[in-house]
Amino acid sequence: MSSFIAPRTVIDGGEHRLQRRRVPQPMIVIGVIVLATLVARRLGYKLGGNVVVRCRKGHLFTTIWIPGVKLKAVDLGFARLQHCPVGKHWTLVTPVRVTDLTDEERRFAQEHHDVRIP
Ligand SMILES: [Zn+2]
Repeated sequence: MSSFIAPRTVIDGGEHRLQRRRVPQPMIVIGVIVLATLVARRLGYKLGGNVVVRCRKGHLFTTIWIPGVKLKAVDLGFARLQHCPVGKHWTLVTPVRVTDLTDEERRFAQEHHDVRIP
C-alpha cells in the first residue's frame, strides 16, 4: 500500500519566495543626474547653479537649477513648475542658452532672480 504521494511539490511551491531584491540604487540615480548635467552643459545650458530660464509667457529670470534638487519647484526633468518673479505667476520654466540671448536679455535675467534656494 504505497499510494502515498510525497507532498514535496506542494512544499516547494509554498516555499517559493518572491524575494525581489529591490536594491535602492542611489548611486545610479546620482550618476544619471551628473551625466544629465554634463550633457546639458555640453549643449550650452548652464545647469547646476544659477540658470537663466524662460517662463511660458516669455519672461526671463535667473534661478538656481540643480538637477534632482527641488525645494520650491516641481521638477519635470527639463522643465519646472515654479513661480515667475517677473510676471508673479506660477508657470513652467525651461532653461535658456545664455548664448542665445542678447546682452539686454541677459542683463534683464540677471536682475530678476527668484528666491535663492534650489
Ligand atoms: Zn512669467
